[in-house]
Amino acid sequence: MNLTFCGAARIVTGSCYLIESGKDKILVDCGMFQGTKEITRLNYEPFRFDPKKISYVLLTHAHIDHCGLIPKLVKEGFRGKIFATSATIDLCRIMLEDSAEVQQTQTEEENKRRLREGQEIRYPLYDVEEARASFPYFSEVEYERTYSITKNLQARYLDAGHIIGSSTIEVYVAENSETKKIVFSGDVGQWDAPIVHDPTPVEETDYLVIESTYGNRLHEDVKLRDDLLLSYVRETYKKRGKLLIPSFAVERTQELLYAFNKLFRAGKMPNEKVFLDSPLAIKATGIFTRHREDYDKEALEYKDPFGFPNLVYCNTTEESKEINEYSGPCIVIAGNGMATGGRIRHHFRHGLWNPKNTVLFVGYQAEGTLGREILEGSKMVKMMGMSIAVKADIRMIDSFSAHADLDGLLKWIYAMKRKPKKIFLVHGEPDSIDSFRAKLKKEGYKTDVPKLGETIAL
Ligand SMILES: [Zn+2]
Ligand SMILES: [Zn+2]
Repeated sequence: MNLTFCGAARIVTGSCYLIESGKDKILVDCGMFQGTKEITRLNYEPFRFDPKKISYVLLTHAHIDHCGLIPKLVKEGFRGKIFATSATIDLCRIMLEDSAEVQQTQTEEENKRRLREGQEIRYPLYDVEEARASFPYFSEVEYERTYSITKNLQARYLDAGHIIGSSTIEVYVAENSETKKIVFSGDVGQWDAPIVHDPTPVEETDYLVIESTYGNRLHEDVKLRDDLLLSYVRETYKKRGKLLIPSFAVERTQELLYAFNKLFRAGKMPNEKVFLDSPLAIKATGIFTRHREDYDKEALEYKDPFGFPNLVYCNTTEESKEINEYSGPCIVIAGNGMATGGRIRHHFRHGLWNPKNTVLFVGYQAEGTLGREILEGSKMVKMMGMSIAVKADIRMIDSFSAHADLDGLLKWIYAMKRKPKKIFLVHGEPDSIDSFRAKLKKEGYKTDVPKLGETIAL
C-alpha cells in the first residue's frame, strides 16, 4: 500500500492523504491550503491524483483546512462517497457555502487590482452552487462502528474532541493476507475542554499520522479561563466600554457563548448585552444546539447551552450597524478570528481608537494578519483604506484553543498499548514539528516528517 501526503506536510493546512492499495484509491480529508500567498497558491494547482479515480473520502471534520477542497474534487469528477459524522456533514454545508462566498468577494477585489495591472483575472475555486453540488456525496457514519468501505478496506471513526463531530479515523487495509492499520489523528482536542468529549486515544496501530499544531507549546490551564474571561469583562465595563472579541464561527464562538451562559447563570456576569454579530456563527450555533449526541456530561446538563437572556443575534447588516450606535457597555463577538475580514473590522474601525474599549483575542493570530499586528502592540494600523490608532486595551486568552498542546498530544500517544512502527508528523509549522519530533525520539519512537507530495510504501 502507498500513502501520499498531498497536503498539511510541513505546514498546518491543506490536510489531504491518499491511500492506494490494489484498485482502491481513497482520500483522508480534502482540505484547503490557507495562510500566505505562497501557500494559498497551492489550491490552484492540479490535484496530485485523478479525482475521477478516487472512490471514497474519509473526512475527519468540518474545518476548511480539512474539507475546503471537496467542491473542487466534485467539480473535477469525483463521484464517490464522503464519509463523515452527522455533525460534520451539517457543519460542512455552512462552511463550504461560506468559503465559496468569501472566495467570490476576495477574487472580485483581487480582479480589480489585476485588471488595473493588466493581468488576467482569477476565478474562485468554486462558487456557492458548486459548493452545494458536493452535498449529495456526503454519507453519515457513527463513532465506534467499523465500516467496510471496500472489500479490503475498513474504517472506524473515534471522537477526537476537537470540534463537534470531529474524528480520529482508524483505517484497516488488507493486502496479501495481511492487515495493516493506519490511524489518522485528525485534529486532536484538549482534555477538559467544554462542550465536546475528551479525545479518544487509540489502542494500538501500525502507523500513525498525527497533527503537530502545538507540538512546541503548552496552553494555560483551561480551568482558569472562565475567571480570566470574567475579569476582562469587568475591566471593560468599569470603563463603560465595549469588549470586542474577534472569533471563529465554529467551536470558538460556541465556547464563548457557553462560558458566558455559565457565568450568567452563576450570577457573576453584569447584566449587559452580548451581541453575536456573525450570520455564520449564528448558523453554526444552531447546528451545535441540535447535536447533543456529541456533548460531554456537563454540556448535557443545560437545556440550551448557548442561550441566555442578554444574547442578541445580529443577522443583517442593519442590525450589525446598530451596535455602533449602542452606547452602553457590552460584548461584541464577530468574525473573523484573525480580523482578516468580516464584521469585526467594522467594529475595529469604530472602536479601536477608543481607550474605553478592550479587544480580546481568543485564538492564535497568524503572522501577517491584522490580529497579529494589533496583538504585537502596533499603535497605528491600516485597514479599510484608513489609518486607525490603537488605543483600546489589548488582551489575550490562549487556552481557548481547540487543539491539544504538546502534553495533550503526548498523553494521546502514550495511551497506546505498543509503539507504532512509524509516526508521521503532519499539520504543523516546522518549529512545532521539530520539537515534537525531538520529544518522541527521546522516548524511543520512530518518526518521519513527510514532504509535500511524498509517497511512502507501507
Ligand atoms: Zn480543525
Ligand atoms: Zn486542522
